[in-house]
Amino acid sequence: MDARLEAVYEEALKRNPTQPEFQQAVREVMESLEPLLLSRRDYQDSAILERIIEPERQIMFRVAWQDDDNKVRVNRGYRIQFNSTLGPYKGGLRFHPSVTLSVIKFLGFEQIFKNALTGQGIGGGKGGSDFDPHGKSDDEVMRFCQAFMMELSRHIGADVDVPAGDIGVGAREIGYLFGQYKRIANRNEAGVLTGKAVGWGGSLGRTEATGYGLVMFANNMLAERGDSVEGKTAIVSGSGNVATYAIEKLHQLGGKAVSISDSGGSVYDPDGIDVDLLKLIKEVRRGRVAEYAAVRPNAEFRAGQKVWEIPADLALPCATQNEVDANDVRAMHHHGIELVAEGANMPLTPGAIEVAENSKMLFAPGKAANAGGVATSALEMQQNASLQAWPADVVEEKLEGIMEDIHSTCLTTAEELDAPGNYMVGANAAGFMKVADAMIQQGVV
Ligand code: NDP
Repeated sequence: MDARLEAVYEEALKRNPTQPEFQQAVREVMESLEPLLLSRRDYQDSAILERIIEPERQIMFRVAWQDDDNKVRVNRGYRIQFNSTLGPYKGGLRFHPSVTLSVIKFLGFEQIFKNALTGQGIGGGKGGSDFDPHGKSDDEVMRFCQAFMMELSRHIGADVDVPAGDIGVGAREIGYLFGQYKRIANRNEAGVLTGKAVGWGGSLGRTEATGYGLVMFANNMLAERGDSVEGKTAIVSGSGNVATYAIEKLHQLGGKAVSISDSGGSVYDPDGIDVDLLKLIKEVRRGRVAEYAAVRPNAEFRAGQKVWEIPADLALPCATQNEVDANDVRAMHHHGIELVAEGANMPLTPGAIEVAENSKMLFAPGKAANAGGVATSALEMQQNASLQAWPADVVEEKLEGIMEDIHSTCLTTAEELDAPGNYMVGANAAGFMKVADAMIQQGVV
């Protein structure tokens, strides 16, 4: 990178030591925006880059709760209110043992640009805890959520900061979090959280939105070549919310997903993943993918293995960050993958992205391809604010329009920056410019 940008990056490293995921996300954005950042004098004069990589507020707190044996447990909670230029902070909560300040900051940083790309008035934030819901009873999860909200409630609100789900935070956790917020605040403020159940302020279509939006985005990419997902085979990682509904949409559009995975290993199902069975095992029984393979005739469970060397046309990483490295992409290329679209946030390492680009594979970064979830969360906020509940087909039609807009914005912006067809440059630049221009208009804050 240019010396001026290196200096800003060096300062960020000094200020954020031992935060590898955050450093990686900042570097990726800076490298892809180098020509833009150097050409815009107004951005330099206003120290936009320096300001945008510094969160507006970082909250870390103790979460003490009691397990079923009355043993006191202690976890750490986080909420990073990264950037409120375009609207209230918006971004999910992640409950997973791998959660650190670095992980939440990288997610919050990505969220700023993703939310800007959706065209809705939402700023960027993220939160979570190193609490692990796996193996906990419902009561334990409830007590943890209540203790977590005890502190978080001081910092959120429908016009301030609106959390939602992410890894380890689904409908059950959002319910417990909302119930506790309502008790503390003594008011029914529906717009304070999104991803709520449909019976009390949730939006139809929110559960499906990230996965559906991902496949819609991939379909738009293929349409540029006069092609579509119909008839294509896909490898999918993960088996949670994003993976499940990406597979469902792919099947609705005539494609076939042949894999799922979790932290225990992966499943190859040549007959195509049975989505109803997957939902039963994961959403109802809270089980593992090994259980899916055990009851599906031709499916094979591969303990500890990834899915990336399974031959297919499309790859949809939908589990977690840095789950795809350069060798994985080489294997994908060798086995015929023509398109990689990130359902998870930052699933490809920088080396993996480089191999994908050099191999001329179509590559969609998560901040564009998985933006359907947060976009539909914003639709949920709109419904809450107007006391309406829209039918499922209305929400899905809006989602389709939003994903089409994001897709064309990426392509147009990439073209303008002399990087035709580069979705990463297009997504980073379009999101960045929207926030940066508004920051200049709002003065030095
Ligand atoms: P879920 O908790 O529903 O599912 C996560 C899946 O990924 C599980 O199968 C889980 O397996 C697997 N996984 C998580 N961490 C690891 C790990 N360290 N190693 C291997 N497997 C792992 O989460 P979501 O589906 O909601 O989220 C998946 C990704 O999509 C995340 O990157 C998230 O940030 C991103 N995303 C989610 C959105 C949403 O609306 N939910 C919106 C936009 C992005 P296991 O159970 O074994 O941990």
